[in-house]
Amino acid sequence: MRYVSTRGEAAPRSFEAVLLAGLAEDGGLFLPETWPTLTLAEWEALRGLPYPDLAADIIGRFTGDTFAPGVLLAMCREAYAGFTTPAVCPLVQLDERRFALELFHGPTLAFKDFALQLLGRMFDHVLARRGERITIVGATSGDTGSAAIEACRDRAQLDIVILHPEGRTSPVQRRQMTTVHSPNVRNIAVHGDFDTCQDLVKAMFNDAPFRAEMNLSAVNSINWARIAAQIPYYVASALALGAPQREVAFSVPTGNFGNVFAAWAARSMGLPISTLIIGANRNDILARFIGANDMTARPVAPSLSPSMDIQVSSNFERLLFELLGRDGAKTAATMRAFRETGAMPVPDAAWRAATALFRAHAVSDEETVAEMRRLHDQGYAADPHTAAGTAASHHSPPDDARTPIIVAATAHPAKFPDAVEQATGARPALPPHMADLYEREERFTVVPNDLATIEAAVRAHARRNM
Ligand SMILES: *Cc1c(COP(=O)(O)O)cnc(C)c1O
Repeated sequence: MRYVSTRGEAAPRSFEAVLLAGLAEDGGLFLPETWPTLTLAEWEALRGLPYPDLAADIIGRFTGDTFAPGVLLAMCREAYAGFTTPAVCPLVQLDERRFALELFHGPTLAFKDFALQLLGRMFDHVLARRGERITIVGATSGDTGSAAIEACRDRAQLDIVILHPEGRTSPVQRRQMTTVHSPNVRNIAVHGDFDTCQDLVKAMFNDAPFRAEMNLSAVNSINWARIAAQIPYYVASALALGAPQREVAFSVPTGNFGNVFAAWAARSMGLPISTLIIGANRNDILARFIGANDMTARPVAPSLSPSMDIQVSSNFERLLFELLGRDGAKTAATMRAFRETGAMPVPDAAWRAATALFRAHAVSDEETVAEMRRLHDQGYAADPHTAAGTAASHHSPPDDARTPIIVAATAHPAKFPDAVEQATGARPALPPHMADLYEREERFTVVPNDLATIEAAVRAHARRNM
C-alpha cells in the first residue's frame, strides 16, 4: 500500500512515511494509491467482531508493512480499552429510521479520541523503532488540545506542549487539559486569544533551528492516519444495520471535512452507503457548495457548535482530488485559485458527481436549540454538534424512506453544558469517570505573548534535552 499526494508532485511513499510527514512536501494531502475493497464474504466476516478487532482489520488494509503481524491489533485493543462502554461506539435508536452512533465514550468525550488514541501509539511505536523523539506543539481553543494530550500522555518517544488562550476556553475543556499530570505533558496559558496562540505555534515552526533542535511535530487534522482510524466505526455501524446486503446513509456534523471523508473512504472500499448528509452550522461553505457549487470562503462566525466553526475545510481537498479524476495538477491549480481568489472553481461535472452522493444543510443556532429540545423531550440528550447532524438528516434525508440514517454523535452533551442547558433547561452531568473533574488539581504556566519565553518553556520541558 503506497500513498500519493493530491497535488501530484510528491513521490509515492509508505504508510509510515505518511504518518510522520502529515502534509506532503508539495502542499497536498496523502491518499492511498488505490482503495482496498472487500468482498461480500469479507464484510460479513467482520460483522459482530469486537470493535478493536474490526478496527485492526480495516486499518490494517492501509498500513502496508509498517506494523508486524499482531502489533496493530494490540495497539487497537489498548487504544479502545479506555473507552467506557464495551461496544466502544454503541448505536442508539432515535426514531423508526434514525440511529445515533455514539462516538463520545473515549477519554475526552468526543470522536477525535478514536483517531488520536491510536495515533499516539502508532507514533510511539514507529519512533522507538527509528530511535527518534519528537516534541508536539499545538494551539487550541478547546477540543483538539485535550484529545491530543490524552493521546500523547505517558508515551515514551513524545513530549507535548499545548498553548491555550488564558481565560478563554470553557472550564470543562481547560480542565480536561490541565488536570493531566504526566511528565511529558505541559500546558501553557498565553496572554492573548486563540489567534495569538496559533501565531506563536506557527512562529516556532518557522524558526528552523528551533524546529530542528526540538524535532517539532504536530498532530494535524490532515494526517491520513487520522482518517484511516475513523473508517472502522462507519463499517461497524453499517454492518450492524444490515450492510453489505442493505444500504445505509450517514449524517455527519462537519467542520474540517475529515470525519465525513472517512465515511466516503468506507464507501470507496465497497460499503453500501447511498447518501452522505453534511451537517454544517452558520459557517456554511460546504452547504453552499453542495447546494449551488458556491465554494466561497467567508469570515468565520461563532456558533453553538464551535468545533464546526470553520470556513476552509482542509480535508475537502481529498474529495476534490477524487472528483477531478485523481488529477494532481488540476487539484493543485484549483487549490491555488481558491487561495488567490477566495472562490474554488469546481467544474460543473465534478460538482454534479458530488451532489449524487452528498446532501448538506446549514443548521442555524435556532434550529440547533430546537433540535436539542425535541430530542430531549423524546428522551435523548444530544450535544449541539450531534443535534446539527440529526437536524440536517431531517432537512435532507435520503430518497428511499426505508434506508436507515446513522447520525454521527460526535460529542458528549456534558462537553457543552451551557448550550444543552439553554436548550433543555437541564444541565447534563459529567460521566462517572470524570465526575470529579472540578476537584482535580490544575497545572499550567501562564506566559506573556513572547516567542523567546515560550520557546524557552518548550526547551525546558522536552525530555530530549535531559
Ligand atoms: C472536530 C469536531 C467536529 C468536526 O469534525 P471534522 O472532522 O472536522 O469534520 C464535529 N463535532 C465535534 C464535537 C468535533 O470535536
